[in-house]
Amino acid sequence: MDASHVEADLVNVLFTEQEIRDKLGELAARIEADYAEDDGHDLLIVGILRGAVMVMADLSRAMTRHVEMDWMAISSYGSGTKSSGVVRILKDLDTDISGRHVVIVDEIIDTGLTLSWLTANLASRDPASVEICTLLRKPEALQMPVEVKYVGWDIPNEFVVGYGLDYRERYRNLRDIGTLAPHVYS
Ligand code: 5GP
Ligand code: MG
Ligand code: MG
Repeated sequence: MDASHVEADLVNVLFTEQEIRDKLGELAARIEADYAEDDGHDLLIVGILRGAVMVMADLSRAMTRHVEMDWMAISSYGSGTKSSGVVRILKDLDTDISGRHVVIVDEIIDTGLTLSWLTANLASRDPASVEICTLLRKPEALQMPVEVKYVGWDIPNEFVVGYGLDYRERYRNLRDIGTLAPHVYS
């Protein structure tokens, strides 16, 4: 294990910490406006572990309304950069979502396999509504149709890391989002 600086392998910064914070502020304001009506429950935001941890932390703190937070862990990827197409729940919600308004929070939609499966799964639990908020989306990589109400940025079909996004469990703690130098993959 080498102890080199985490930012040293980043070749191209796509989004800085400040740009990400501003974008999440905009998304938070839109979500708050859309769920302004009081239905007797707080809005439930569901973060998808582990990549969405940073997005959940900053999106939720950009909100001033009451929100409830829960988490799911889903496996659809191995440790590399390719989707396996197999979706499995590793950790389910602790919350009964029937009658609840739910916003799924993810950091990136690539093929869409994970979230199209997950929205169908949550929809079967009789919630009042289910919407998706993702910081990033790769339209060219999409294999399954997924309706996403809240998108930070559409990006090209490149593998990105940082701000929760990993390569082999590294780089999640980068503050910016960017692409890695080719030598990292070899
Ligand atoms: P999908 O099912 O949409 O193909 O993939 C969803 C998950 O794959 C994401 O939540 C993320 O964990 C992982 N993923 C997809 N694209 C990337 C990427 O460019 N970089 C990283 N680090 N993870 C990605
Ligand atoms: Mg994810
Ligand atoms: Mg990963």
